[in-house]
Amino acid sequence: MILIDGKKAAAELREELKKEVAELKNKYNKVPGLTVILIGELAPSKIYVKNKEKSANEVGLKSEVIRYPETVEEITVLEKIDELNNDDTVSGILVQLPLPKHIDKQKVIEAISPGKDVDGFHPMNVGNLSSGYESSVPCTPLGCYLLIKKIETNLSGKKAVVVGRSNLNGKPMTQLLLKENCTVTITHSKTADLKGECLKGDIIVAAVGIPELVKGDWVKKDAIVIDVGINKTEKGIVGDVAFDEVSKVAKALTPVPGGVGPMTIACLLKNTIECFKRSQKN
Ligand code: NAP
Repeated sequence: MILIDGKKAAAELREELKKEVAELKNKYNKVPGLTVILIGELAPSKIYVKNKEKSANEVGLKSEVIRYPETVEEITVLEKIDELNNDDTVSGILVQLPLPKHIDKQKVIEAISPGKDVDGFHPMNVGNLSSGYESSVPCTPLGCYLLIKKIETNLSGKKAVVVGRSNLNGKPMTQLLLKENCTVTITHSKTADLKGECLKGDIIVAAVGIPELVKGDWVKKDAIVIDVGINKTEKGIVGDVAFDEVSKVAKALTPVPGGVGPMTIACLLKNTIECFKRSQKN
């Protein structure tokens, strides 16, 4: 069984991106810039933002974090986004989720210029992705996709099963696999026979949020299994896949932690660079 090392893959990707940033600096005499807006004091959000800033600096991006208190008015955030949309030194804008209840998440997502939407959440990018056009792709599914491609370069004709249909993970993952000519089944909480569906998959991507939902006898021999889940349990952080059981049947499997997680931030940096390159073309 191949243990898919997300930490190593993310470090390799950051190395490639570092070289690319240096080349872009030579060519354009400027570097891509990522601006993150952080509202409030939620500990996980603060940790994510700190890691994003550190990784951005590591690859040579210009990075900035704008912090607001929990009580900030929605209009203040929308005006700041408008200012950043018009700032040529900013290639990518990310508003860290979740937001306080009084701020309308969709309004904030739609305020970000699609060309600077490094999270790929703007309806324009969602539409472009599903139409097969150039777009920003949400960072976690993009990371999953890159990990799958490390194991199998030609996915054409493979049967892929995506467990979970969130806008953040399941739906964009489905689009990426479709683009690779997989035959994709997307499953969710109302799926009648989840085990039966999973058993058909040459590739399974689990993004559910239920500890160890996908069992060993749900997985076809030699399947590639990607575990997006991050679940806090009494025995520590576990994924959506029963690792010990599934590792006995799968061809390749991501661990939790150390699988998909590290790729997410690396893909955010990649998206920022892609936004910069598209803006230089236009
Ligand atoms: P989400 O928005 O809560 O969506 C969960 C999906 O799972 C929904 O589509 C839901 O179906 C489906 N589901 C729930 N119970 C199910 C069941 N019994 N059988 C089949 N499907 C079921 O979650 P998310 O944001 O996509 O996150 C999923 C997991 O990934 C979480 O553990 C989260 O922490 C983790 N995550 C990891 C990363 C990373 O970087 N590694 C990034 C983001 C999220 P319905 O639509 O029918 O409700």
